[in-house]
Amino acid sequence: MNPTSTDEGQAAVPPASEQALRTIRRQAKLKGRQPEEQALAEVRECLGPRPAEGHRRDLLIEYLHRLNDRFGALREPHLVALARETGIPMAEVYEVASFYHHFEVVPADAAVPALTVRVCDSLSCSLAGSRELLERLPALLGTEVRVVAAPCIGRCEQAPAVAVHQAPVPHATTDAVLQVVRAHGGAAPEASVAGTAFDPAAHAERSVSPPREQLQVLPAVTDYALYRAGGGYALPAALARGQADPDAVLRALEDSGLRGLGGAGFPAGRKWRIVREQPAPRLLAVNIDEGEPGTFKDRTFLERDPHRFLEGMLVAAQVVGIEAVYIYLRDEYHDVRRLLQREIDRLVADPPCPLPRIELRRGAGAYVCGEESAMIESIEGKRGEPRLRPPYIAQLGLFGRPTLEHNFETLYWVRDIVERGPQWFTGFGRHGRKGLRAFSVSGRVKFPGVKLAPAGITVRELVDEYCGGMQDGHELYAYLPGGASGGILPASLADLPLDFDTLQPHGCFIGSAAVVVLGHHDRARDAALNAMRFFADESCGQCTPCRVGTAKAAALMAQPGWDTATLGDLAQVMGDASICGLGQAAPNPIRCVQKYFPHEIS
Ligand code: SF4
Repeated sequence: MNPTSTDEGQAAVPPASEQALRTIRRQAKLKGRQPEEQALAEVRECLGPRPAEGHRRDLLIEYLHRLNDRFGALREPHLVALARETGIPMAEVYEVASFYHHFEVVPADAAVPALTVRVCDSLSCSLAGSRELLERLPALLGTEVRVVAAPCIGRCEQAPAVAVHQAPVPHATTDAVLQVVRAHGGAAPEASVAGTAFDPAAHAERSVSPPREQLQVLPAVTDYALYRAGGGYALPAALARGQADPDAVLRALEDSGLRGLGGAGFPAGRKWRIVREQPAPRLLAVNIDEGEPGTFKDRTFLERDPHRFLEGMLVAAQVVGIEAVYIYLRDEYHDVRRLLQREIDRLVADPPCPLPRIELRRGAGAYVCGEESAMIESIEGKRGEPRLRPPYIAQLGLFGRPTLEHNFETLYWVRDIVERGPQWFTGFGRHGRKGLRAFSVSGRVKFPGVKLAPAGITVRELVDEYCGGMQDGHELYAYLPGGASGGILPASLADLPLDFDTLQPHGCFIGSAAVVVLGHHDRARDAALNAMRFFADESCGQCTPCRVGTAKAAALMAQPGWDTATLGDLAQVMGDASICGLGQAAPNPIRCVQKYFPHEIS
């Protein structure tokens, strides 16, 4: 008789060894999907050696970028392995990975295109013909290259703008895109080289952007050596040595009337005082997300003159008493990220004064992260969902600490305001307004770009004096004074002063001063629909009026005749009941078209 058979003829199960029993017991305690050995090895290679205290939870988005860059997408086995390696729950890894547009979660065996070409289809690029590029490029590039429509990539003066993987293609044509694809497959351009020192004051009441024929993807930069040779970093060094008075710096800021230039317009000096009064340790979070369609001023200054911003950041750190600084840069600015990291490294290697800890963080494609509390969530490695306030982030912000939050440009002006005196800044202005504003102008003008113009200038003056007038064959018909969210005004209101607080009576706001100009062949309703589709794509989905309202409004606005009653209801609910500025401002284009352009929708 076979000793392993029973009388009934069935094979008897041999007793398990002690080793096998241990394995069975261990596996029985494991919950959920277990990582594959190969995926785990690849994740470990991407993340590097595990620190003694474990991988940082707040760097989750950075870890996802490393995997995404290396494998072209986020494969599910890698996410499982990442959760194991970092100790972050799988559900959290997945919910973050699936939130951001620049991450694509795919099954283990999914085919991933070798290259992605992003064609901007926001308003300025649409006016310049991006739709035609989107239609023609797939057939020309073949199946190995994926062509997708992308929201504003921050190059509106170069419309139509395209990104081949990480390489920008300004004034894109099919030939230019093909050339970049064939030449280097979309690698980000090398960091720019030093040129002559850039002085923003010399550009006051002039264009900062060069004419089209002098455009460079990477303009020459004022690097660390050049900036210091020109007296840079003297102010934070003097503050550190006790040779400059922090209160005098604060008074200069207040006297200049400098306000938050990311769009909110909160007085900068008052913000510094509020955060300074909070208990230490305090943090600084810098917003360079620049996602508002039509806005490209931060990039324009940053790629020429990064240290003026870094100096303003150090001054803020000294005056407010900041322990660590987090700079949040939009993912689309690959070349700027390289440049900024290089210059931060040079600053840290040879500091002019004791430095706070400085971390440069990379966004991952989410417009809502331009909202301060959403950005803070993202820096913490979470989904970029705005927080309910109070508490305000000045009290309870990043990692639960009092946090000073600033847009890039606000800090950029600190050195000049203190050195030249606040009256230098307030000496500019028109029509009763004071200060300088960096307008990002795009659309149907001859010479688009960043225009450093007096606060209160009108759009008619901006177009005529700074932009060479309207493009041939176009007459001024309408304009968006503050990007997609700031509303749309008709040419009959082209003589309003452009500044904080001047446009609200007309249902608009200046926001980040992104002015998109429409001609008489364009329709305001098309611009409004473009904006609403953008909001629908970018809604974080946290609150129903915004999530459902933007999608429903976009569908209604695409109809030949508008259902104005239903759209009016939707606008009311979105404006009243959304948590953050995205949902609250989304109705602006609807209301403006109904008020100023009723002939287009009846
Ligand atoms: Fe998210 Fe929109 Fe609500 Fe803002 S308003 S929290 S974007 S759903």
